[in-house]
Amino acid sequence: MKVRTRFAPSPTGQPHIGHLRTAAYAFALAKHSDGDFIFRIEDTDQKRYVPEAVTSLKNMLTTFNMNWDEYYVQSERLDLYRAAAEELVATGHAFYCNCPGKNAKKDGYSQILRDPCREKKLTVGAIKLKVPDGEKISFRDLVFQKEISWNTDKVFDATLLKSDGFPTYHLAAAVDDHETNISHVLRGYDWMSSTPIHLLVYRYLGYETPEIGHLTDVQSPEGGKLSKRKGSTSISSFLDHGYLPAALLNFIILLGWAPKDNREMFTLDEFVENFNENGFQKANPVFHTEKLDWFNQQYIRKTADTKLVKMLAKFTDKTGAEITKLIPLVKDRLVTLKDFDALTNYFFTAPAPVPGNAAIISHAISVLEKNFDGKFLEEQSRAFCAQKNIKVGDYFMTLRQAVTGQTATPPLWDIMKILGKEETISRLQSAHGQK
Ligand code: GLU
Repeated sequence: MKVRTRFAPSPTGQPHIGHLRTAAYAFALAKHSDGDFIFRIEDTDQKRYVPEAVTSLKNMLTTFNMNWDEYYVQSERLDLYRAAAEELVATGHAFYCNCPGKNAKKDGYSQILRDPCREKKLTVGAIKLKVPDGEKISFRDLVFQKEISWNTDKVFDATLLKSDGFPTYHLAAAVDDHETNISHVLRGYDWMSSTPIHLLVYRYLGYETPEIGHLTDVQSPEGGKLSKRKGSTSISSFLDHGYLPAALLNFIILLGWAPKDNREMFTLDEFVENFNENGFQKANPVFHTEKLDWFNQQYIRKTADTKLVKMLAKFTDKTGAEITKLIPLVKDRLVTLKDFDALTNYFFTAPAPVPGNAAIISHAISVLEKNFDGKFLEEQSRAFCAQKNIKVGDYFMTLRQAVTGQTATPPLWDIMKILGKEETISRLQSAHGQK
């Protein structure tokens, strides 16, 4: 049987890291076995529908190179769901309900799981699932690798088709998973409570039950589930902050999945190659931004300078030529692409003069005026320091502060070379109070 997975988001807002993670796992599960990855828009909740979200979800998959093999939009398939709902009514597994509101549970009858319309033999209204009493229903979870079961007495008569003709998630997802031959369903842990409903729908419609796995919840370091309220989790905000897609993806796939050998660096292709269902971890992972920063640094270092220059264009107003010149100096210091300007500011704007040791500065000025050369400065400074009993480190720190206004920078001569003789000496003079 061909492995076929799907990514089935509801277009209700900006794609977030949960979307990216679910998509990446579904993609790898399919592609590891040369299977198909299906992209499905679950837009049956018209009240929450945000049209731009469809474009953003597509962009997310494209940005991360998760190309889909087939694409479906649920609102274009309403006839299928209606037919399935009517079939369930005909076989006695669903019924029409005219109760106002969505379902008994949400209307405040919190204990009433069985709908009052059940026995009324109505022929209009919403169609609800007739959940059997006192049965055990179970499945083996692919992620947790254990059987999970419910007593159907605790499962409510879920709405399958609303009176406006739109299916609910339960019906549409089950029908589509069957119609598109989905072999493995991976979804967020939040959906666990709807699984018994889906299992009943599969059974009553004569569908084979796919493999189902519920992904762990990503936790925020402060505790609790990572959520919008605890800081933005949208993919675009991470990219806008200068995280590289490859780094974000690498970080995210390891939030809940781990290889046997603890390897950390994975491109999407490598993840697909190494993917193994047994790698799903059962404990909720924690989103540590420092770890994401670490991945970002690794990926920035691995990126060719020419490519990095293009990526940086969005984060700085410096010209391509300027970026190209400075990249070798600051590449290792960038945590995100947004750091470029702060790390290179002093190349463009002379620092406010920091008064430094006048003897050191005037020595450096006279050396550089004679011969603007790194080796020469090095030799001369050593001789000077030995004679004056000054530490070479202190000598260069004085110059560093005078030239850049900073205490930690790339090698000073590399900076001086880029600034040029005139600008370097002029900055030294300012620090010396001669200007
Ligand atoms: N439409 C659901 C969501 O937005 C998907 C649930 C599923 O994958 O079955 O997360």
